[in-house]
Amino acid sequence: MIDRPYGAVRNINIIDMYRTHTCGELRIGDAGKEVCLAGWVQRVRKMGGMSFIDLRDRYGITQLVADETSSAEVNAAAEKLGREYVIQAKGTVAERSSKNAKIDTGDIEIRLKEINILNASATPPFTIEDDTDGGDDLRMKYRYLDLRRNAVRKNLELRHKMAFEVRNYLDAHGFLEVETPVLVNSTPEGARDFVVPSRMNPGQFYALPQSPQTLKQLLMVSGFDRYFQIVKCFRDEDLRADRQPEFTQIDCEMSFVEQEDILRLFEGMAKHLFKTVRGIDIKEDFPRMTWNDAMKYYGSDKPDTRFGMKFVELDGILKGYGFTVFDNAKYIGGICAEGAASYTRKQLDQLTEFVKKPQIGAKGLVYARVESDGSVKSSVDKFYSQDVLAKMRDAFGAQPGDLVLILSGDDAMKTRKQLGELRLEMGNRLGLRDKNKFSCLWVIDFPLFEWNEEDGRYYAMHHPFTSPNPDDIPLLDTDPGAVRANAYDMVINGVEVGGGSIRIHDSKLQDKMFRLLGFTEERAQEQFGFLMNAFKYGAPPHGGLAYGLDRWVSLFAGLDSIRDCIAFPKNNAGRDVMLDAPSVLDDSQMEELYLKSTYIKKN
Ligand code: ASP
Repeated sequence: MIDRPYGAVRNINIIDMYRTHTCGELRIGDAGKEVCLAGWVQRVRKMGGMSFIDLRDRYGITQLVADETSSAEVNAAAEKLGREYVIQAKGTVAERSSKNAKIDTGDIEIRLKEINILNASATPPFTIEDDTDGGDDLRMKYRYLDLRRNAVRKNLELRHKMAFEVRNYLDAHGFLEVETPVLVNSTPEGARDFVVPSRMNPGQFYALPQSPQTLKQLLMVSGFDRYFQIVKCFRDEDLRADRQPEFTQIDCEMSFVEQEDILRLFEGMAKHLFKTVRGIDIKEDFPRMTWNDAMKYYGSDKPDTRFGMKFVELDGILKGYGFTVFDNAKYIGGICAEGAASYTRKQLDQLTEFVKKPQIGAKGLVYARVESDGSVKSSVDKFYSQDVLAKMRDAFGAQPGDLVLILSGDDAMKTRKQLGELRLEMGNRLGLRDKNKFSCLWVIDFPLFEWNEEDGRYYAMHHPFTSPNPDDIPLLDTDPGAVRANAYDMVINGVEVGGGSIRIHDSKLQDKMFRLLGFTEERAQEQFGFLMNAFKYGAPPHGGLAYGLDRWVSLFAGLDSIRDCIAFPKNNAGRDVMLDAPSVLDDSQMEELYLKSTYIKKN
């Protein structure tokens, strides 16, 4: 983790008109130097006739001292200072009598000769300290003050460093950064669009890009065979910890490549980031797991592989003994939590409550403890003999002291997902999800389509430009649900940090794809005619990927939410509470844009 500001890491000397040094720079070797610093007053302490002032900038904190040897002006100015005043301070570097080992400049102080108050400050609404007394809402309202705090500032420095290393790596591999427009067209496939009315084209709207997907593909047609862009993308979705309405992608595309080329190059980039940003040298290739296996063993397409607890299917062992819940189930599966046999009744009840939560939706939970003599004590003992339970125990390789947790259901996929949630919960409870440990993998062979029960139609699992696995093309006509895509995700610690695919570059196949997705010929033409048309003029084979910069940064910073690695994020209601956006427009502005609101405020 970088614990020093980026400028300081590179040993850049910052000398401006206002200062000779930063507040993080001076050491004992500088004693005797006449210096000039500028920054914010963190705090002022008075002791006897002396004033100690902690002066802060983004590089650190330096102690300033005014005492009886200082001039009357200096002592008068020191009297006036309050928290967050901006000052310029001139003086001599001196060794401190009581040193502070906690800060880099803790061996020295500045004996003041001059203080210039550059700007006064109102009392800040919360303390600008690591452990601030400000709540979330207040910190967001005054985000510019929050950003003065180390914790938040460090995340932005980390973000800068990561973006910088991304550019380094991609530039060294021949990629060109090309900007694509922010005002584009709405494409209903995928998430909801943010739209922008066009004054010059009455009644018409632009959309903000959900990703530059089609544009980067057009750049491939243009011959820019290695493209990237660190780009804002916009999706009008309900917000979660790892989602913001605007977020940043490291968007990449390459021509004349196969999936293998892309996986290698971007695995290389991941390793480059680990090494240059976190100092972690990953030598081994990232494991690759098929989507089928990810679902079968982890119940998730983004498995957290920092710990095992792989699913074991128990249909063959536990069916047919009169326990109707299992006898009627389409799927029975379980996990083995090592050393958790000591769980109390209360803890087991909590787990049952957990799986029954509406977001998870399981009906109940069966558990089995492996006792110290190897025998099994379960919540369904009356249906099963020790022989059967021992078979089950052995299927997990469970040892004395382990706890087996079992879910069943009539929909295998749903039950696996529920078991996947339970696995993560157990991982949390058993402390197996260490933020300083990283486990990376590729999930490959995603299905091309996802069936939607409600609409009774297929949706593209990745997006409609993803190419089917060539081996499965015949299945497009007979069994579309079984077609595998040439699509891949990179997953780290259960977070999807990026994903992409080999694209369709043949206009006929693209046309067929749109048809399978329920587009009429007219609608496909209307929305994607430009792309299919471009494909008629020599589209090279191509593919790419996008990494989520915010997710990468929060992973490296050890944050649970992407919010604190974004300078000015939105809250969970999609609002910027500092700017008070979004907001109502003036009538004249509405008129100019040919808009009328149909919104009626409910009381
Ligand atoms: N455009 C895709 C996305 O935003 C990534 C890709 O396929 O390159 O998920």
